[in-house]
Amino acid sequence: MKIEGYRLKQVQKLLYKDLIDDWDKATVLPLAMREKLKENFPLKIDYQLFEDGNAKKAVINLKDNSKIETVLMEHNSKRATVCVSCQVGCPLGCSFCATGRSFKRNLEVDEILQQVLLFSRYYRKPTNIVFMGMGEPFLNYDNVMKAIKILNDPNCFNIGARKISISTAGIIEGIKKFTNENNQVNLSISLHAPNDELRRKLMPVSNSYTIKELLKVVDDYISKTKRKVMFEYLLIKDVNDSIEHAKQLSQLMRKPLYMVNLIPYNSTGKFKRSLNVKRFKEYLEKHGIFTNQRYEFGHKIDAACGQLANRI
Ligand code: SAH
Ligand code: SF4
Repeated sequence: MKIEGYRLKQVQKLLYKDLIDDWDKATVLPLAMREKLKENFPLKIDYQLFEDGNAKKAVINLKDNSKIETVLMEHNSKRATVCVSCQVGCPLGCSFCATGRSFKRNLEVDEILQQVLLFSRYYRKPTNIVFMGMGEPFLNYDNVMKAIKILNDPNCFNIGARKISISTAGIIEGIKKFTNENNQVNLSISLHAPNDELRRKLMPVSNSYTIKELLKVVDDYISKTKRKVMFEYLLIKDVNDSIEHAKQLSQLMRKPLYMVNLIPYNSTGKFKRSLNVKRFKEYLEKHGIFTNQRYEFGHKIDAACGQLANRI
């Protein structure tokens, strides 16, 4: 079914601005068209909601019975972020991450957008989007980019590109492609270790390249786009949280437009949360590295980073 011209504008408005959840409400459209839309684009979203303070997690049941999770984080009255999933599970199998224990398939564009639609319709319109839910965005590159276009489109969600972030475990080909997208979407790199030996233990994806090679691609991105890059670093007890690790990390990160985002680890079994976050952060700051510490949401409902997995 192809929708074009002013009809497309009407449908976009109904979907993304009026946020209808039933084509019967689309009375501006001819009946025959509504019937066709009902058949081709069902609007109902099958989900369960879990709440913990200012975090809401939705588990969405997809047409093939796969389940994905998405989280709305309400920072304040002006800012709310949706953390979006892009795959069912994740094939990269990082040892610290609950999502990486299984993988089924990539999400379609509508399945990615559905997560934002759900919160917009029934809870609150988000101001920010992060691709930091289940899955690796650069392994579902085309669908993620298509979804971002619609999130960004003034006739659709109208969320500014600067308010959208993608996090990658370091898919080199994806970063290269992303460099040429010419948009203002933010890039985050999950680094998590300051040397190859440790990174390879934690993140199997890094077996095929070195940190040096990864940073070279990131530097190319920065010199082309002039945009800053956030390096995510999980702090895991007795694994990557010593002052020696902080020293190695500070040596890698001492470059303009590099920023470090320290993430307190949410235990998912094998590893434990570091008790050394404050000292680690102070070391980096003392050595001139721009460092943030991630604010945490949604522990009780397993909605925090890396805890998204199919448990129900
Ligand atoms: N696959 C991409 C996008 C998912 S983002 C990536 O890894 O970047 C998920 C973020 O949560 C990543 O920064 C990831 O490293 C982090 N994460 C994974 N497991 C975690 C855990 N147990 N506690 C806190 N953060 C975790
Ligand atoms: Fe996949 Fe990211 Fe989890 Fe690694 S951290 S398994 S790349 S979702």
